[in-house]
Amino acid sequence: MLGSADHPRHCRFCYQDEPAVTFKDEAHAMPAAFGNTGLFSNYECDACNHLFGEGIENHLGNWTKPIRTLSRIKGRNGVPTIKKPGPNKGWRVEYSGTGFQLEEYEDDPFFEVDEAVKQLRFELHRDTYIPVAALKGLVKIGLTLIPDVETQHFRETYDWIRDTNHSRNFVAEFPIFRTFIPGPMRNDLIVLMLMRRRAGIDTVPYAFFTLAYGNEVLQVFLPFVSQDRCIDGRPLSLPPFPTPGSLNPALHGRPRVKVENLTGRKPVKGEKVPAIFGFDSVQEKTTNQPAGEA
Ligand SMILES: [Zn+2]
Repeated sequence: MLGSADHPRHCRFCYQDEPAVTFKDEAHAMPAAFGNTGLFSNYECDACNHLFGEGIENHLGNWTKPIRTLSRIKGRNGVPTIKKPGPNKGWRVEYSGTGFQLEEYEDDPFFEVDEAVKQLRFELHRDTYIPVAALKGLVKIGLTLIPDVETQHFRETYDWIRDTNHSRNFVAEFPIFRTFIPGPMRNDLIVLMLMRRRAGIDTVPYAFFTLAYGNEVLQVFLPFVSQDRCIDGRPLSLPPFPTPGSLNPALHGRPRVKVENLTGRKPVKGEKVPAIFGFDSVQEKTTNQPAGEA
């Protein structure tokens, strides 16, 4: 549990204290969807908790859902199942605890099986999300972790993540360094890292936040507006910080780093997320459904 349990409690996101705001609900330091069952905070009020849960955390959840499914990350209701959008039946990607169950219909093929290289290729779809809202959801986790003494420096950033108007200008350059680590990564290891630059350095942002789970590492800076003026207009170039838990790259391939831009303000619909599975063997499932259907 982060922060003091003493009363009156103070909310670091809206700056209000008890009894003006209440602290009855569990405030996850990072959303449960990422597999967090153990890290909570005492400094997020119920109103802010609901505001984030119904807003930016949903957008972050939608943006990360395909990779959470492929990484077998268990949220409140287990590993999320992804299926063909729309009312009609169709393909389905589901994790059962022992392996992935993949379904498609004969007249609506979805998976491309390459027996020669033992690979299965497909494209998952991503639920609609607003990029900048997903970015706020990621930054929010970092702002939850920073020590109390630092919160005063990030006022503008706290105000920005609470602002439900996603069209407001904030920081011009806001890259996310995303590393994809191939292979069967652990699905029960979460790495959260917070870094502050050393005194006397003015070539990098003041604070960095890194989140690693499953096959993905996301690295973003936490804007401290006055301290980050020194890097205004300069392109941000940084090595991705290594996180524990990497597999043998000789066996599964090297981690791949990409810079993602999540500053878009318009909803993104129907985005495709390509995936490649390596397999040892394929078992065809018998079905009780009428012949020719499944
Ligand atoms: Zn609050």
